[in-house]
Amino acid sequence: MSEITLGIIGGGQLGSMLAIAAKKLNVKTVIFCDDTDAPAQNFCNKFIAGSYDDKEKISEFINQVDLVTYEFENIPFDTLNEINKLKTVLPKPSINRLIQHRLAEKDFINKLNIRTTRYVSIEKKSEIDALEDFLPGILKTTTLGYDGKGQFPINSSEELSSLNIDFSKGYILEKLVKLKKEISIIITRFSNNKYEIYEPIENTHEDQILKYSKIPAEINDKIFNQSKDWAMLIAEELKYVGTLCVEFFIDRNDNLYVNEIAPRVHNSGHLTINAFNVSQFENHIRAVCSLEQIPLKKISNAKMINLLGDQITHFRNKQKFNDNEFFFDYLKKEIKEKRKMGHVTTLL
Ligand code: ADP
Ligand code: MG
Repeated sequence: MSEITLGIIGGGQLGSMLAIAAKKLNVKTVIFCDDTDAPAQNFCNKFIAGSYDDKEKISEFINQVDLVTYEFENIPFDTLNEINKLKTVLPKPSINRLIQHRLAEKDFINKLNIRTTRYVSIEKKSEIDALEDFLPGILKTTTLGYDGKGQFPINSSEELSSLNIDFSKGYILEKLVKLKKEISIIITRFSNNKYEIYEPIENTHEDQILKYSKIPAEINDKIFNQSKDWAMLIAEELKYVGTLCVEFFIDRNDNLYVNEIAPRVHNSGHLTINAFNVSQFENHIRAVCSLEQIPLKKISNAKMINLLGDQITHFRNKQKFNDNEFFFDYLKKEIKEKRKMGHVTTLL
C-alpha cells in the first residue's frame, strides 16, 4: 500500500502525540498551526504556520496531504468545509460545527434522551430575571471556551446583571451540578458499529483545569455501563470516524450527566499511551486512515498528573524516573501560569 500523508490542524501537545502515533504506523504528518512556536513541529514530518483563514497557506497544506484531521475543535467551520471539498476531513466538519457550540451540542445530546445539566441560552440582559431556576450556575461562552476559559460562576441574578458582558455574543447559563465525581469515556469509532472503547477514566479538576486522571474509576456498575452506552450512542448518531471523548458529571445522588463532548483525542486519555496496547492517538490515526482495527487490551491500571506552569521545571531537572513512571515534556518554549506543560503517567 502506498504511504499515507495525514494533515493535522493544530500543533499543541495533542498534535504532537498524534504525530508520534502516526510515525509508528508509517503515516507521514503535515501539521498546520497558527502558532509559529507550536510544540508539535518537533514531532511531525512537515510543519506549516499560518492563520486558519489564510487561503493560500491552507491550499499549500491541502496540496501536501491525502486527508485531514484536527486536534482541537475551535477551527472555523468554513475552513474545514473548504478543505473537505478537496480532501476528506475526519471527523466530518459538520460534527465539529455542532460540538464547538455549547448550545447546539447540549440540544443534540438531549435529543438522544441523554441527561445534561439544565441550561438556558441568554441573548439579552432583559432575560436575566427569569433565570432563578438555573442558579447557582456557571455562565459560559457558547463558543471558544477551554480549560475553564470564558466561564463565570454565578450565585444570584444580581451578580449576573452586574457583569459587564455583551450577551449578544452568545452565552449559556448552566445549573451547577453538586459534583461527586467526574469521569470521561474515550471511544474510537471505525465505521458502523465498529468501536474500540476504553474503560471510564476518573478525572479531578482544579480551577476548572484537569489535574489528575486515573483508571479504574471508582464508580458503580450502573454508571460504568451507562457512560459507555451513552458514548457509543453519541458516536453512532454522529457517524463519527476517529477518537472522541465524552466528559461526564456524577452528582451526589449518583446521577450521570454528559458535561460535554470533545471531537478529538483528549487530555484524560494520555494514560492510554502506557496503560493499553493501543493508545487513543494510535486508534485515532488507525480509524481516520482506514488502517487495521486492533482489539483493545489493558496492560495496567494507571494514574496521570498534568504538570501546569512551572511544575514542569522540577521534572525537567529530574535525572531518573522509576520504571513505572513516564514523563512527557510538551517542549513548549514559554512557561505560563496554568499552562499545560507536560504530564507524568504512573502504571499502578
Ligand atoms: P471546558 O470547555 O473549559 O473544559 P467544561 O464545561 O468542561 O469546560 O468545564 C470545566 C470544568 O468546570 C468541569 O470539568 C467541571 O469541573 C466544572 N464545571 C463546569 N460546568 C459545571 C456545572 N454545570 N456544574 C458543576 N461543575 C461544572
Ligand atoms: Mg471540559
